[in-house]
Amino acid sequence: MKTIDKIYINGEFVTPKGTEYFDLISPVTNEKLGKVLLGNTEDTQNAIEAAKNAFKTFSKTTPSERIQYLEKIKSSVEKRKDDFINIMTEEYGGTFQFASVSYDYMLKSFDSAINLLNSYSFIKTMGESEVQMTPIGVVGIIIPWNSSNGFICSKLSTAIAAGCTTVIKPSEMSAQQTQLMIECLLDAQLPKGIVNIVNGSGEIVGAEISRNPDISKISFTGSTNVGKIIAKEAINTMKRVTLELGGKSPNIILDDADFSKAIPLAIAAAFMNNGQACIAGTRLLIPENKLDEVKSLIKETIPNFIVGDPKNPNTAVGPMVSEKQFNRVQDYIQTGINEGAEILIGGLGKPEGLESGNFVKPTVFINVNNQMRIAREEIFGPVLSVITYKTEEEAIEIANDTTYGLQAYVSSSDSKRAYNVASQINAGRVQINGIGHDPMAPFGGFKQSGIGREFGTIGLEAYLEPRALIQPK
Ligand code: NAD
Repeated sequence: MKTIDKIYINGEFVTPKGTEYFDLISPVTNEKLGKVLLGNTEDTQNAIEAAKNAFKTFSKTTPSERIQYLEKIKSSVEKRKDDFINIMTEEYGGTFQFASVSYDYMLKSFDSAINLLNSYSFIKTMGESEVQMTPIGVVGIIIPWNSSNGFICSKLSTAIAAGCTTVIKPSEMSAQQTQLMIECLLDAQLPKGIVNIVNGSGEIVGAEISRNPDISKISFTGSTNVGKIIAKEAINTMKRVTLELGGKSPNIILDDADFSKAIPLAIAAAFMNNGQACIAGTRLLIPENKLDEVKSLIKETIPNFIVGDPKNPNTAVGPMVSEKQFNRVQDYIQTGINEGAEILIGGLGKPEGLESGNFVKPTVFINVNNQMRIAREEIFGPVLSVITYKTEEEAIEIANDTTYGLQAYVSSSDSKRAYNVASQINAGRVQINGIGHDPMAPFGGFKQSGIGREFGTIGLEAYLEPRALIQPK
């Protein structure tokens, strides 16, 4: 049984002053794996103080010095590949396949930050002025459990590129993954205080980060509800906020698409990370006259998506992160049934032989209309809603009829047509005939999927404050 009783402040492992423990439970067996000692308000304040002191010198470093720090962290992370992948499968039930992708994403984050530093000009001329792009200050990073170290690496690498120091609050459910990340940061021997990490609850550690006047910006990934709480608190001290929130992403299959490719891709997009992904394509929009073909393709494809032990490299869908999340997904499946949607495959209960863990049967609903709760609310589990449309215009209308706007998918064999449809969707990222990640392109949401963007020049500038110097010639 593991006890995690250290946090990372000012370059050192320290024991939190908090006295509360949080139990770490295996999503595969529901057995207790260990416990984590949570930090409290004082721990958070100590971390902020360390970051504030470190900012005095770190903000003056040159881009090439910062590239060296990024390279050091990346090389420490590279040494622990198997450990990172293993702990993701163990701690939250991410599949080996998804954990491997997530690990690559961690490394790519450092590469893209280094690329930006190699090309970005921190001093610009605009009009007759010199504009200096200066690091914003201490950044509070608050993240969820569903790709914890992926988020740490993407946000931290940009903060470091900008010359900012950080206080990171991961989800308490990710304590083992966090521990591994801290070991890499220690190994990288960064100057003290650039990165500080406090395990703890949202209501205590997260709230202090949102409130504390010495934090200049918050970069948050998580639910829309918590994003709103953070933004309201942050405005009291005019903190800048970048919010990466929920989604209910549409996947439009146009009538000319190759359905034998588009449907397996759509299922992969819906069930990625066991359905626990903000970018999951959870609304499948298909032409009405293709329903029968789609139904048989779904029935053929889903049995190939192996549900089970996340460590097995062939597994496509692992368990829900917690029993609470399992119950939430079951409630949504029941809601879909009550609303009159029809289960094509899957349904309530656990798959046979997997009763001890938080496994959900991959479920596809047909006869869904876009006003049903299962089509409007983020379920965060392997549940896909199939919605039919009559015309391309109607497909676009349904796709945009949502409070979210994080990601969308379009499939067509005519690339011009796909491009035209994609250009009318109100989402921060649209994937055409595939699923990918471009770490040099901005990522973020329209509407209630968030505020601001990460990655690329736009993402870097979210950590910078412009100062215009005007002097008469
Ligand atoms: P969550 O919003 O419950 O928690 C996220 C983080 O916020 C956690 O660290 C939590 O402890 C903290 N928190 C909770 N209450 C807080 C408060 N009052 N003040 C400050 N911090 C607080 O989200 P979750 O359940 O961990 O993750 C799932 C959600 O994250 C989904 O809605 C998903 O769509 C979203 N998400 C978005 C993206 C994206 O890039 N847009 C990526 C992954 C996940």
